[in-house]
Amino acid sequence: RFISFEGIDGAGKSTHIAYVAELLGARGKTVVSSREPGGTELGEKLRELLLHQKMHLETEALLMFASRREHIAQVIAPALARGDWVISDRFTDASFAYQGGGRGLDRAKMEVLEHWVHPALQPDLTLLFDVPLEVARARLDATRTLDKFEQEQADFFAACRGEYLRRAAQFPSRITVIDSTQSIEATRARLAGILEHLL
Ligand code: C5P
Repeated sequence: RFISFEGIDGAGKSTHIAYVAELLGARGKTVVSSREPGGTELGEKLRELLLHQKMHLETEALLMFASRREHIAQVIAPALARGDWVISDRFTDASFAYQGGGRGLDRAKMEVLEHWVHPALQPDLTLLFDVPLEVARARLDATRTLDKFEQEQADFFAACRGEYLRRAAQFPSRITVIDSTQSIEATRARLAGILEHLL
């Protein structure tokens, strides 16, 4: 099984990824926990460039999908073939949200890349952690220094969030929206309920 975690920066997804890994482990599943951009040696190098180097928008999208291609080849596909569970902090929905919704890259171009890089693979479940912008900003400011993406305008994040929610409406059987303004305990209870269906 393949689960991806999505949401704008500060939506709280990283807090819950560890919990889901723990929950699956407690049920006897072997869990491979990974992230994008990154997840492989090459992918982590690409991540460094993506987060800190200014580049053309299409270069950015291509490198995101290059990182993803490597991630699928080296980590995701072999793990799924072994029967392990894969949980990934971001996958292709993030490209649609950030490079597409946020930066305005043509959705059709993104679909070309998606069909090239993973024509048959989709997460079995995508958990979309959703919060209003103000909540996300407050969380980020409190916890760490901002990278190049996070320094962007609030309207950028609003556009990312809008695209995430649009995709959730487009793929309702795959994407589950989690109201991340709830307490950590309430969110954990919700996650446990959702995972029960998959187990
Ligand atoms: O998930 P994480 O916060 O580690 O992502 C690192 C950064 O990469 C985030 O600030 C996010 O905005 C950005 N990103 C992006 N496009 C993607 C994936 C991540 O701009 N497709």
